Amino acid sequence: MKKHNSYNWNMVFFLSIIPLIGFVGTGVYIYHHGVVWQEPLLLLVFWFLSGMGITMGYHRLFAHKSYETTNFIQWVLMILGSLAFENTILKWSSDHRKHHTHPETENDPYSIKEGFWHAHIGWILKNTPEEKNKIIGVKDLEKKSVVKFQNKYYFHIGILFGMVLPLCIGLLYGRPLGAILWGTFLRITLVHHATFFINSLCHYVGARPYDSNSTARDSWFVSLFTFGEGYHNYHHKFQWDYRNGIKWFAFDPSKWIINFLSYFGFAYNLKKAKEYLIWESRIESIKNQLNDKLSSTTDSISNLYISKIELLYNQSQDIFTIWKELDLKYTKSISVDKLKNKEIIKKIRNINKENINKVKLIKIDLDQILLNIKRGKLVLD
Ligand SMILES: [Zn+2]
Ligand SMILES: [Zn+2]
Repeated sequence: MKKHNSYNWNMVFFLSIIPLIGFVGTGVYIYHHGVVWQEPLLLLVFWFLSGMGITMGYHRLFAHKSYETTNFIQWVLMILGSLAFENTILKWSSDHRKHHTHPETENDPYSIKEGFWHAHIGWILKNTPEEKNKIIGVKDLEKKSVVKFQNKYYFHIGILFGMVLPLCIGLLYGRPLGAILWGTFLRITLVHHATFFINSLCHYVGARPYDSNSTARDSWFVSLFTFGEGYHNYHHKFQWDYRNGIKWFAFDPSKWIINFLSYFGFAYNLKKAKEYLIWESRIESIKNQLNDKLSSTTDSISNLYISKIELLYNQSQDIFTIWKELDLKYTKSISVDKLKNKEIIKKIRNINKENINKVKLIKIDLDQILLNIKRGKLVLD
């Protein structure tokens, strides 16, 4: 049996040679032949397409089933995902589902507990014991014809669309070598490491507004080059949500495109976390942080704030109880007769707005207390 943690030298070779050709090869080529506008464009277009294949396809559609889409779009996303060379939908989704169901344990293939390097790329480069490398938990995907087809022809599809196609485009303007350097090698390097950064950097730096116990973090910066996947703390809390960045200004092109497709009926059953659940998780997260801080602070600070925190927390719980009941009523009203229940729907929407405002104020107070404790301040309004 292969020793765990020994390296798979084939993988080491491929994952070193691709960035080496990508960066050094492209650099040398630019030095001798310069750059034409088609080349960076080829890089951006193929990066975008293969990146979307991973985020919209592999991740949100296949691994999490956070929305449904037509057969045609499933096939398009499968092809786009294949040209990222991140293995098949089945293997990718199996690993990813393990990451979500057993986070930060030995059954998490890219557990951050084994270090930044392991979570980033080490887990791919190392030999994994056979029992841990098994493709499991993807029975639902195995039945799909698009997945079966990809399983048979994964490399053919990847090479045809990810290498031959850029090469042919390059032939059209007389620079095939430049096209394959920019559109294949440099592009694969970028798409690989962008994905890897979600497993490493997004479990390392950033805020934890929705679950303070998780190592996953929200990072708007990582979102910029991962097509919206940087809001990883939210994603770990509500993995079935088709959005990762929930605020309207959050950079999440995958969410925008899924939304856009849904207007025309090409995407449907978009799963979305309910507003009260999101706010409940935010309050819970800050309460956990406060508990942590209180346990390591002085008695005078702890005694001063403890009852205030309990009071605010209990107020929030009362709001959530009412909010949940209202939400049930709302769901029932819109499913029965939208027109007849117009008035009640409007009333419930207004109460929900009030609830958001009330919980927001509680959160501001709790945030302030957390800040005071961190600074060792004794102030109580
Ligand atoms: Zn994660
Ligand atoms: Zn996920």
